[in-house]
Amino acid sequence: MSDLRDAKPWLIYVLLGCSLATNVMLLLARGASDKPDSHAIVQAPIDAAGSAAPVNGSAAATGAVHEAAVQPASGQAVPSTAPTAGWTVLRSKVEQSLARTFQLAGGESGDALASVYTRLFVWDLELRRDLQAGDSIAVVWRHAPDGLPEIAAASLQSEKLGRTVAAYHWQAPGDPFPSYWHLDGTEAPLRLRDGPLAQYEQITSVLKDRPTHKGMDFKTPVGTPVSAPRPGTVTRVNWNWTANGNCVEIRYDDGVLGKFLHLSENRVAEGARVSVGQVIALTGNTGHSTAPHLHYQLNRGEKTIDPLDYHGTIRRSLNAEQIAAMRRDVAGFESMLAEPAVR
Ligand SMILES: [Zn+2]
Repeated sequence: MSDLRDAKPWLIYVLLGCSLATNVMLLLARGASDKPDSHAIVQAPIDAAGSAAPVNGSAAATGAVHEAAVQPASGQAVPSTAPTAGWTVLRSKVEQSLARTFQLAGGESGDALASVYTRLFVWDLELRRDLQAGDSIAVVWRHAPDGLPEIAAASLQSEKLGRTVAAYHWQAPGDPFPSYWHLDGTEAPLRLRDGPLAQYEQITSVLKDRPTHKGMDFKTPVGTPVSAPRPGTVTRVNWNWTANGNCVEIRYDDGVLGKFLHLSENRVAEGARVSVGQVIALTGNTGHSTAPHLHYQLNRGEKTIDPLDYHGTIRRSLNAEQIAAMRRDVAGFESMLAEPAVR
């Protein structure tokens, strides 16, 4: 959540929680902050430990995919090892907006599906601006045991991109959480370069989702170590506890203020110097927070800045062996996602 010191009581409710429902509604109501992506994308291989090392490459800056790494090249169907029973396909032409499309096609699960779906493609498209008549969506989904919709695979046929983008839910070896991957082995969601969390479950909110939310939210279990992304000095801890819970503010040496909210435990005191990578806190679910997550916010003076711009981003990619395993595992969903044959 944002820093709520000056918020009016009703506004606190509006901003409350970074909850799924709140995110869904506000995510779909966004639009005031549309702007071109200015952060460069750097491709990064995934190593055995699941961490990503930035690598330089001019083609990477355009988000170009690693076609050469895709396996197998035989063109033969890959046998699937994943059961697809219980999963259903939702398929639709885009109607007005993604929100409307999912409301029409997804019934009472439409809003929640739209939220998860948006999170898969927001990295490559300004969905509000770039969706066009004639675009179509497909989603393989089911109700998870907790009642929320779970997406195994999703695709967007985009006139703007001139191709169909598809993402598959899959857990890479060494990763603590599943993520979503393109069939060429690139990860669908981008990651912060040198961000405060080495591992997290999912980015659930970025600044461009909605102008009222001033930070980036990372869904992650309570107790995940938070590292200082830059050298700096701790300026405040635990201010406005009701809203922010346990929190730490660090003035980076370049003058930018980094705020880390909803922590379970602070590991630094006001006035302390911190070095890059030093664990400053553990994530939590304190203050106005409805689920365990880290809210990471950056300010330069009065201005809120986007961590995606400030840090830059990386896009991880699987190695050839991992791609083969992933493609084998998701082949059943790939078939379900594919357009029905035109006769
Ligand atoms: Zn937040």
